[in-house]
Amino acid sequence: MAELSVHSVLVTGANRGLGLGFVQHFLRMPKPPQWIFATCRDPKGQRARDIQNLVRKHPNLIIITLETADPASIKAAAAKVEEHLGGSGLNLLINNAGMAKPKTLEEETLEDLTETYTTNTVGPLLMGQAFLPLLKKAAQGSPGSGLSCSKAAIVNISSIAGSITSFIGWESVQCVSYRCSKAALNMLSKCQSLAYKEHGILCVALHPGWVQTDMGSSAGQVPPLTVDDSVQGMLKVLSSLSEKNTGAYLDWEGNVILW
Ligand code: NDP
Repeated sequence: MAELSVHSVLVTGANRGLGLGFVQHFLRMPKPPQWIFATCRDPKGQRARDIQNLVRKHPNLIIITLETADPASIKAAAAKVEEHLGGSGLNLLINNAGMAKPKTLEEETLEDLTETYTTNTVGPLLMGQAFLPLLKKAAQGSPGSGLSCSKAAIVNISSIAGSITSFIGWESVQCVSYRCSKAALNMLSKCQSLAYKEHGILCVALHPGWVQTDMGSSAGQVPPLTVDDSVQGMLKVLSSLSEKNTGAYLDWEGNVILW
């Protein structure tokens, strides 16, 4: 299997949980990316301490302010990334930032559904649009035909909670707005794969497993997977993807999830 080898990567929600895990794994690679853009809402805040500490040790790690629910913030972030890249493209966009509110069907409100949908679904849509020129540039600048994550890719971190067929966990947590937002994110990933294929950009929706993060542990149970196991698994999956996988909905072990 080919090693995932990217010149540049951007991870949203990189200050904690899986986003931070992705950044740590990229930094530890035998051949780390030349540019790792770690985006977070509040780079100077308490919750960004870990990523700030990493920035001090790694000159290839850049923190960028990004609120995925704010189109102006996304545009400003894309402009900053372009400036840093100085003419080269962005290989890998990982739309990881996400939120969940543990509401039942009875409790859901317009505000909850709108906020969750804006963050989990609209955010990745706008990110794809804003970073498209840089992703295209990366695809054009990479040798060889076909699609791969080393060339140019959008990875949407979805959830099995968005699967209508493999409907799991309903008895313990309903999270209706979250489920709807991730089902819509799956559709978005498929649409992106169809539209961006001609530009040489691979697009997938990836379920990280049930992982020990703030979100994963919010229901009061200890999830089976560590951040390390999940991220290691996802990176292995990403390194194995090719043209035939674009538009797929996969888990952290590479298994196909039913929509
Ligand atoms: P965490 O709650 O630990 O972290 C969420 C991250 O997203 C934080 O960095 C948070 O930033 C950021 N974020 C939330 N809203 C926004 C926003 N509007 N703009 C920018 N950043 C935002 O979650 P996980 O690490 O567990 O989740 C990462 C992804 O994995 C999510 O998309 C989630 O749905 C998915 N997932 C997780 C599972 C699990 O078991 N953990 C299972 C299935 C899917 P801040 O610190 O500022 O709040």
